[in-house]
Amino acid sequence: MKKAIFERWDSNFADYEWRWLFYLERLTDGSFTLSAEQELIKADEGDEPLEVADIPGLREGADIYESFMTMIASNECGIDLDDIDPVADVVAELDPVVGDQFRRGEELLERRASQAQRSDDARIDALVARHQEAIDELTAGLDHTPEQVGGKSLFSPRDRVRRFLECHLRREEKLPSPEQAIDLVLGAGRLADALSPEAPESWIKVPYRRVSVPRGTGGICPFCGNEFRGRPVSPRWNLHCQCGATLDYLGMAWLSDQ
Ligand SMILES: [Zn+2]
Repeated sequence: MKKAIFERWDSNFADYEWRWLFYLERLTDGSFTLSAEQELIKADEGDEPLEVADIPGLREGADIYESFMTMIASNECGIDLDDIDPVADVVAELDPVVGDQFRRGEELLERRASQAQRSDDARIDALVARHQEAIDELTAGLDHTPEQVGGKSLFSPRDRVRRFLECHLRREEKLPSPEQAIDLVLGAGRLADALSPEAPESWIKVPYRRVSVPRGTGGICPFCGNEFRGRPVSPRWNLHCQCGATLDYLGMAWLSDQ
């Protein structure tokens, strides 16, 4: 059974006029197919209506809602939230449960996304826990005394490499080689030796290791080993680390000495 669930008339400044019609069809296997048709009412001769690919295989109201909203948005066919209820009423004529899910589509999709995020977080936490022993082994030989710079006691080389390994594991889901990790985090030597002589008073300033990836760029905090990846939002972008450091766009990391 196929029902028209939403209709919209539209026009533009050039006096063209068209109508969108969205349909939902229930198949005998219980699944739904969403489709849309554009009908040109006033147009130039030879203009063809836009073709929209059907979306088959939908089962839950939230999926229908998501596909419907995507179809609406990708064809620049607006809908007000007030229009959702009447659409849900028509969906409910095909299936009351699915209609109710459609009505609560926004809420159900949000809930689904946060559940997926939670289960992904749990999976990554378990992965890090499984690798704790390997991380201990990789970092066993490193200096574990906190580094003293200016008036400040900073993370030890071992803690910095550990932090980096955890970051890397969370992002890549595998550990880098120990040589690579140590080179990236400790390659520049001791923090006290890397200090920039131009740092203003009460600031610790050292170069940081920049990393670049296809979809962005970032760096490794020299003070704690945390690795950032991100897309620069402006040519002068600064990163702020959870340890309190700022990694500036010129490649220097700053930490207050206070
Ligand atoms: Zn940091």
